[in-house]
Amino acid sequence: MASMADRSGGESRKLLGRLRDTLAEEGPAQARLDRITHLIADSMGAEVCSIYLFRDSDTLELCATEGLKPESVHQTRLRVGEGLVGRVAKTAEPVNTAEAPSTRGFRYMPETGEELYSSFLGIPVQRLGETLGVLVVQSKDKRVYSEDEVYALEVVAMVLAEMAELGAFVGEGEAMSAPHQRAVLFRGTAAQEGTAEGYVWLHEPRVVVANPVADDPEAELPRLEQAVEQLRVDVDQMLSSVNPAEKDQRDVLEAYRMFANSRGWMKRMRDDIVRGLSAEAAVEKEQSAARARMQVVPDAYLRERLHDLDDLSNRLLRILTGQGIDTGAEMPENPILVARNIGPGELLDYGRSLRGIALEEGSVGSHAAIVARALAIPLVVNADRITAEALNQDHILVDGDGGLVHLRPDDNIVSAFRDKSAMQAEAQKRYVSLREMPAQTKDGATVELHMNAGLMADLPSLVSSGAEGVGLFRTELQFLVRNKMPKRSELVAIYSRVLDAAHGKPVQFRTLDIGSDKVLPYMKPTDEPNPALGWRAIRVGLDKPGVMRMQLQALIRAAKGRPLTVMFPFVAQFDEFQAGRDHVHRELEREASLGHVLPETVEIGAMLETPSLAFAPRQFFDMADFISIGGNDLKQFFFAADRENERVRRRYDTLNVSYLTFLERIVERCAESGTRLSFCGEDAGRPIEAVCFAAMGLRSLSMRPASIGPVKHLLRRVDLGEAKSVIENACASGSMTVRPAVKSWLAG
Ligand code: PEP
Ligand code: MG
Repeated sequence: MASMADRSGGESRKLLGRLRDTLAEEGPAQARLDRITHLIADSMGAEVCSIYLFRDSDTLELCATEGLKPESVHQTRLRVGEGLVGRVAKTAEPVNTAEAPSTRGFRYMPETGEELYSSFLGIPVQRLGETLGVLVVQSKDKRVYSEDEVYALEVVAMVLAEMAELGAFVGEGEAMSAPHQRAVLFRGTAAQEGTAEGYVWLHEPRVVVANPVADDPEAELPRLEQAVEQLRVDVDQMLSSVNPAEKDQRDVLEAYRMFANSRGWMKRMRDDIVRGLSAEAAVEKEQSAARARMQVVPDAYLRERLHDLDDLSNRLLRILTGQGIDTGAEMPENPILVARNIGPGELLDYGRSLRGIALEEGSVGSHAAIVARALAIPLVVNADRITAEALNQDHILVDGDGGLVHLRPDDNIVSAFRDKSAMQAEAQKRYVSLREMPAQTKDGATVELHMNAGLMADLPSLVSSGAEGVGLFRTELQFLVRNKMPKRSELVAIYSRVLDAAHGKPVQFRTLDIGSDKVLPYMKPTDEPNPALGWRAIRVGLDKPGVMRMQLQALIRAAKGRPLTVMFPFVAQFDEFQAGRDHVHRELEREASLGHVLPETVEIGAMLETPSLAFAPRQFFDMADFISIGGNDLKQFFFAADRENERVRRRYDTLNVSYLTFLERIVERCAESGTRLSFCGEDAGRPIEAVCFAAMGLRSLSMRPASIGPVKHLLRRVDLGEAKSVIENACASGSMTVRPAVKSWLAG
């Protein structure tokens, strides 16, 4: 029989046709796999064909072979990276060599008898960027397989991957266990604390390709072409309905259009079909390759484009399979949302119906995370591969404290998890009992505990958390969750509702803090090399005061005779604060002249988020009615460590001696001028940090509502004088951080 080297799609199609027949045959999976290796070896003119499948996340097992010793099946195992097979699995790249035994990384496995074979071609079996196993052919003669043969085997590997997904290789043993049935643990990043148990609800339903091999190859090409045509029309329609000012959205759609019209993409898919793949499998093959590239491309821009291609492939698959967003599936009880990523608006649409969220991507500082926090829904981000593993209705546990997600957990995990949740519920009860009590330390110091807010969904927490007020109202969130600029009248309504809900408790409204990570979808984006240090927050407000003025007017009107407290974000020096303050006064005059009732009192403060402001002239401290330390930003600038960058954001401890000393200096300066001071970064909500801040002299902390209970609980147990001397001793000892000393004191 001729080898595939000298044949075009015809032979390949024949092989795929046989594979499809094998797929349709009844009988045990092992027999099916054995037959497949036989068919491939025969068709490739190779003496050996073997299939290795993953046994667990880092071991491959030889599951079937034609040519190697039969007794090695299910006995031979390799770790990822070990031997040539392990290398294919690790790199997800083919290995093609004429002299395997002398190739770097070759590992001799005597039980297989493979020393007889010289040439080796290993291809990853991949589905949607996930490697499921390795397909190998080997021959005695020393030859490098041609490009055409490599390609032919890739097409075969694609069919194997689809067959595996359809459960064709489910047999005894872990390497042949059914897909989507094993228990899987995902180690992600905690983005909103709390635990949740429920059932998977996929934000985007999986597309199932039931026919990886074309029934009628002649009909597949027109199917693909029609679907791509439909896709092009859809993309053009989307483009024409986007406002030209919405540049980001347009950029993405332009990229979609580019891919949809890409000849290279189309040609590869056509070639796949000529080789015998169905149109769906051809799309998935390309998508899989894009995902594999996505994992290794370091350039963020290119990665984004590969994402675009991925999205586009999903659309194309939906057109081809008719499996749309509406699959008829019903949302389960206690739904846990599983998605690659999600926007804040979409998350708000789900609202409180969700018990938990597990995202494959996302970041702690993302807007979706902010919304999840406001809704107090446990959230884990960076749960790698979760969308590839999870199926609708799967049992799932989200541990938002540890950043863990257990999919299809076994009974032991479930009971341990339930114990933990019960303990948390107990603790919550304890916190509820403290709700009306002050955060008074053993030595009689009282620390005011306020909450951070920004969405309407936050407001009920004002009562339930026992917060004494809103220490930070992030007004930009209302702008971020909309797709167009809110009108002044809308803002008046929103701010009035906030003040109504506060029932006289103080609310510190922070003016728009946009720029950096907070980009409004409907504002012209500025291309800045380093947005965190760029044109953001008060800098935008002062340079283009239109929106800030509109916002100040809305705040004044919403106050309607009640007290008003406004603070400016990201003030780096005195004159910026003065200019912001002048704007408030001008708007007050203007509103008065228009006959609006003025607020009963107006307090104007600044957020201290840049180290420079701590060294501002005394006049600044005298002029500011209050100062609120924005620790999230302050810490990133103090240590020069990006708060959004997982690599560095935890590198420097908040209880670092230099940082605490710096905070103490700010406390002293505010004490000298009698300026009210609070702290509203995330760190205020961490009980140990809160105790240390209080020991440094801070008497007002603002945090997530859920943190108020735990912080209050700890503050009421400690003596701040003692805490202060523990900190001072630790500082004097030359330690980098006071954390170990404080922790052991608290434990003692
Ligand atoms: C901060 O920087 O600490 C802060 C509270 O503001 P944001 O997190 O909104 O930047
Ligand atoms: Mg900030």
